Amino acid sequence: MPLRNGKQFLMIPGPTNIPDEVLRAMHRPAVDIYEGPLLETTEACQRGLKRLFRTEGKPYIYAANGHGAWDAALSNTLCKGDKVLVLQSGLFATGWGEAAKLIGLDVEVLPAAWNEAVDPTRLAGRLQADTSHEIKAILVVQVDTASGVWNDIAALRKAIDAAGHPALFMVDTIASLGCLPFEMDAWGVDVALTGSQKGLMCPPGLSFVAANEKADKAHETANLRTNYMDWTFRKGEIHYQKYCGTPPEQMLFAFQKALELIFEEGLEKVWHRHALLAEATRRAVDIWSTEGAMSFNITDPRARSNSVTVLKFNGHDPQHLRDFTELTCGVTIGGTIGDSRGQGIRIAHMGHVNAVMLLGTLATIELGLSKLGIPHGKGGVQAATDYLAAAI
Ligand SMILES: *Cc1c(COP(=O)(O)O)cnc(C)c1O
Repeated sequence: MPLRNGKQFLMIPGPTNIPDEVLRAMHRPAVDIYEGPLLETTEACQRGLKRLFRTEGKPYIYAANGHGAWDAALSNTLCKGDKVLVLQSGLFATGWGEAAKLIGLDVEVLPAAWNEAVDPTRLAGRLQADTSHEIKAILVVQVDTASGVWNDIAALRKAIDAAGHPALFMVDTIASLGCLPFEMDAWGVDVALTGSQKGLMCPPGLSFVAANEKADKAHETANLRTNYMDWTFRKGEIHYQKYCGTPPEQMLFAFQKALELIFEEGLEKVWHRHALLAEATRRAVDIWSTEGAMSFNITDPRARSNSVTVLKFNGHDPQHLRDFTELTCGVTIGGTIGDSRGQGIRIAHMGHVNAVMLLGTLATIELGLSKLGIPHGKGGVQAATDYLAAAI
């Protein structure tokens, strides 16, 4: 008996729920691209990006998804044949490495298991061995949406400094910006990038790159530059140069509204809301896992992300649970991807998510586990609400 008619929730790690205000902000006719209100929108978006990334560096806006931002970061700062070191932790850093290979970079992967964070000590060791400073850039994701890991970016920076290595430090914050703390300048990140459709609550289609002075310096000699991605052209005075052509106007209106929502709530409060909802999720999973049919993908509790929780199933097909929550109850939860495809679920608590949506999702999962006879400890939702009652 379907119970799905009502508000549908999309609890997958991107794209995420879009606030009605953001959708409405897009519902406007096109405007002039050389003068008028769009110029203010661009300024508001750039100011907002600096506040989000916590940087005095320069932000760039692309009509592209996250993959486009990867290309922009690499092509603007590196030369053909340069060596880049990819810090593996799930799926996405290696995906970025594949993009690097395709444009002629020499990619080395520092391997790590699918269930653990990047180890700063191993990074320091690899960099110390690179005495001739062949490695020109280090690529890492803050949160990997496939594995659910949360890498410690500040600790990785310390490892780079401890080795005295000059490589550019580039961080993908697509699944973390606007969800959990990120400090581009304080942590010494040279290039940071993100996308519109995860923590930033917008439709997919925009991505953002921020570059500090060191990255800008590297840009001067980079020879992989392309017309569309190029920072030099985008630094020009004329408004349309900032987009290398017609700006994605309605997307910008959406992003401007999303920034307003984030800063009205307060960025730290947004981080705290994510921390509370993520911990409530983990409390429920702790209880469900006691029967052995499921477990956290990330073994170290300190390395579990506040934006997505990834579970592995043992002996049961997670697809049945996902079908049940979506088709019978109206909430879509993520399946696992990459090497662990079909082996678990991903519960996103990312972006425009409140207690109702999260507790409703957890209760629906619990209902599904009972209905489908998947063994689980009873009282996961109770544990989540007990936690929140004490924490808020
Ligand atoms: C989603 C995601 C990407 C890919 O973004 P697209 O917009 O799909 O290109 C890259 N990195 C991370 C960490 C992600 O979560």
